[in-house]
Amino acid sequence: MRILVIGAGVAGMTAAYSLVQSGHQVTVLDREPQPGNGASFANGAQLSYSYVAPLAAPGVATKALGWLLDPEAPLRVQARLEPAQWRWLLEFLRCCTAERFAATTVELLALGAYSRRMVHRLMQREALEFAWAMNGKLVVYRDPAELAAAARVVRLQAEHGAEQEVLDVGQCLTLEPALEGMRGVLAGGIHTPSEEVGDAHRFCRELQRVLLAQGAGFRFGCQVQGLLLRGGQARGVVTAEGPLEADAVVLAGGAAAVHLLRPHGIRLPIYPLRGYSLTLPVEPWHSPPRISITDSHHKLVFAPLRDRASQQLRVAGMVDLAGEEAAQPARRLATLARQAAAAFPAAADWSRATSWAGLRPATPDGKPIVGLSGIPGLWLNVGHGALGFTLAPATGQLLADMIDNQELALDAAPFALRRGTAIAPAMATPA
Ligand SMILES: Cc1cc2nc3c(=O)[nH]c(=O)nc-3n(C[C@H](O)[C@H](O)[C@H](O)COP(=O)(O)OP(=O)(O)OC[C@H]3O[C@@H](n4cnc5c(N)ncnc54)[C@H](O)[C@@H]3O)c2cc1C
Repeated sequence: MRILVIGAGVAGMTAAYSLVQSGHQVTVLDREPQPGNGASFANGAQLSYSYVAPLAAPGVATKALGWLLDPEAPLRVQARLEPAQWRWLLEFLRCCTAERFAATTVELLALGAYSRRMVHRLMQREALEFAWAMNGKLVVYRDPAELAAAARVVRLQAEHGAEQEVLDVGQCLTLEPALEGMRGVLAGGIHTPSEEVGDAHRFCRELQRVLLAQGAGFRFGCQVQGLLLRGGQARGVVTAEGPLEADAVVLAGGAAAVHLLRPHGIRLPIYPLRGYSLTLPVEPWHSPPRISITDSHHKLVFAPLRDRASQQLRVAGMVDLAGEEAAQPARRLATLARQAAAAFPAAADWSRATSWAGLRPATPDGKPIVGLSGIPGLWLNVGHGALGFTLAPATGQLLADMIDNQELALDAAPFALRRGTAIAPAMATPA
């Protein structure tokens, strides 16, 4: 089939890769000048297959009330006269029950484990250079009660195959000596040795290189304005340069995907959660963490990114519900830099940080949306939220298998647009 993929972020590029492997003629379209320029540009770099628990957790609502009054909190809501924001928040609050949290965690763990297999298979097949490393992840806690709650999630995850261990302060410092500066405030941590890091933007560029060699096409600077429908079926897209015809269309447009479906009466439950990152060059005299660290108190992730030529430290975090602009408010970036530098003062030269803001395409329940859209011929690979780099290799393969009517490697019903429904056309979301 001739398939157009809208969006050259991790979701579009991984779907394109899987579709090309099944023999389809794929063209990827993006309004940006190169792949991975949206949310996939300078994200937290975590391939965090075992750390998939959703943001919608029991107790988050109470915690968020305290955060609302704190300008330095990891979560900020800039209230807007925007029904989409309020609807998303209400749906998010409904997902914050213990039952839904546990069910979603288990579903995402299965997807994460499948994604790990897909990343490893991809790396075996293609020589990709994207600063990938399996260096493990240590999530550190300052509050003993939070550590105890995290240990309960570890027990739940262990029942579903995740290998994680709870460490005391001494064990955390032995594992990662760069934590020395936090010794006085730490309560302990959770270590997951099998977690990985990599640079998402380079991953997208490397996939572009591979896909070009395998015959896929790319059109950059190409704004998709709408869908081309014939007899109610998606038969291509309309761009500023004219229509492009195809047999099927995959929508992987990140946070902006909502706009292409709205005129057709289909509401994607996606809202942009803005986050920020800093990328710092690491010199031989610096002492960055060797493993991936998450500071649970400030909700910051630290990823060492190494390749043959250079070494960088990526720090990312914060969740701002503030509309669709990827703005970089000086105050938020200053808070991020101060909290990060306080955790690892000798990790890098903090005055040389390059800042970035991106929009996580988030669903209220924290699960991506993969499969039918409600319009025959239009397929969805959207809503990956805070875990797109981690989960896109899995959803891309699932989507390709759905399009080819192949047996799926796992139950995809939890990731359908209308959650829990099968992937048969009769179950598509009504307008
Ligand atoms: C601060 C931050 C830290 C993060 N850290 C991590 C992490 O450590 N690990 C992890 O797994 N995930 C992380 N994420 C989440 C991850 O980056 C996202 O889930 C992922 O990048 C989403 O990929 P995507 O392909 O869906 O969207 P995008 O990367 O945004 O790609 C969508 C593309 O579609 C294009 N597009 C949209 N509409 C149109 C149109 N009409 N016409 C043409 N082109 C269009 C856009 O230009 C864009 O390039 C983080 C996100 C942020 C913001």
